[in-house]
Amino acid sequence: MTVVDCVFCRIISGEIPTDFLHNDDLVVAFRDITPKAPTHILLMPREHVVAAADLTDAHGPMLGRLFAVAANLARDTGIAESGFRLVTNSGKGAGQSVPHLHFHLLGGRPMRWPPG
Ligand code: 5GP
Ligand code: ZN
Repeated sequence: MTVVDCVFCRIISGEIPTDFLHNDDLVVAFRDITPKAPTHILLMPREHVVAAADLTDAHGPMLGRLFAVAANLARDTGIAESGFRLVTNSGKGAGQSVPHLHFHLLGGRPMRWPPG
């Protein structure tokens, strides 16, 4: 389902032109508009799931695909060897600013732990 007010649904539908790094029947990936690391890619389901808090067993195939695509993109962009962070923020308290589930693939610089 496309949610008209959702910026990521508008990107996925093609209404907002975007260079996709990956685009299939379940997941898409494209670069973050304000990168927080030398490599910063967003991966998300085509389906409008609001956040990780809404995931169920039924999302298993999508999540399997998404993690496999993330691993491929990490290899393709050269951050698999140096190390990368794959994270999702669920809810405003965790820093989620766009209410369409997405994972951040971050790499190309040292990562601190724990995250702030
Ligand atoms: P969140 O804060 O929800 O975890 O992550 C949302 C991310 O989406 C942010 O890193 C932000 O820079 C990115 N973002 C917001 N709007 C757009 C957009 O229109 N295009 C792209 N490529 N990224 C966006
Ligand atoms: Zn959406």
